[in-house]
Amino acid sequence: MWKKWPWLAFGLAVGALYVVERLRPLRARKEPGPARIGRNLTIGLLAGVTTAASEWPVVAPVQRLAEQRRLGLLRWLPLPRALRIVLGFLLLDYTLYVWHRLNHRTPFLWRFHAVHHLDLDLDSTTGLRFHFGELALAAGFRAAQVLLLGVDRDTLRLWQQMLTLSVIFHHSNLELPIDVERRLVPFLVTPRMHGIHHSTRSEETNANYSSLLSWWDRLHRSLRLNVPQASVTIGVPGFSSTDDVTLATSLALPFRGDPRLRPPVTPVELGKG
Ligand SMILES: [Zn+2]
Repeated sequence: MWKKWPWLAFGLAVGALYVVERLRPLRARKEPGPARIGRNLTIGLLAGVTTAASEWPVVAPVQRLAEQRRLGLLRWLPLPRALRIVLGFLLLDYTLYVWHRLNHRTPFLWRFHAVHHLDLDLDSTTGLRFHFGELALAAGFRAAQVLLLGVDRDTLRLWQQMLTLSVIFHHSNLELPIDVERRLVPFLVTPRMHGIHHSTRSEETNANYSSLLSWWDRLHRSLRLNVPQASVTIGVPGFSSTDDVTLATSLALPFRGDPRLRPPVTPVELGKG
């Protein structure tokens, strides 16, 4: 039962958000039909299979090796177990922030991550829509996190479960009362905060990279909250019609070398030369 509950919780969370985000939508929809949902679920299914398939040959052996040889930062520090768990959780979340920024900065990684940003709308199904290539690369990154940070498997599992719920929540199109969001956003990534990250404007995409705790954007001054959702156009520049974002286009995009896929650079950064 314990092993099954994350999937049950995950299924219930997606199902519940899917219903409530339609009752209280935050942003107007561009592509309201079932085609988009089917596309996101198909991309999500491939992503889920890839994650499960890379867990066994990539992450699990690295976790075993790190445990047997006592490798990684947190195993070397003489810390009480509770502190080790808290620090492990924070370091996993912080390094994911760094990985997400790299996905936006590095042309090779952006080709894959752009498929997630290609969606013309943002809702709970976007939280499932990651290219299988991005998740295969992420498995390699996860193995590096486990090895270098020295987090134990219980901490990793706890963080992954909370992260998954957070990803579905902050991608949702649920209009929370503004004062509720104002109370949550100092700690957690919220739908309005992450909506800004999915904007077609580069100065908005290059903000709000956090995935669970919102602190990392505050720490690195990449937090942007002063953008009304009505002014945000969701997507990637150059991919504005439904023909640009079909299932076939989305899956083939990383391998095509599309000239429209340049990592988003803000005008200020362009001036730095
Ligand atoms: Zn992103």
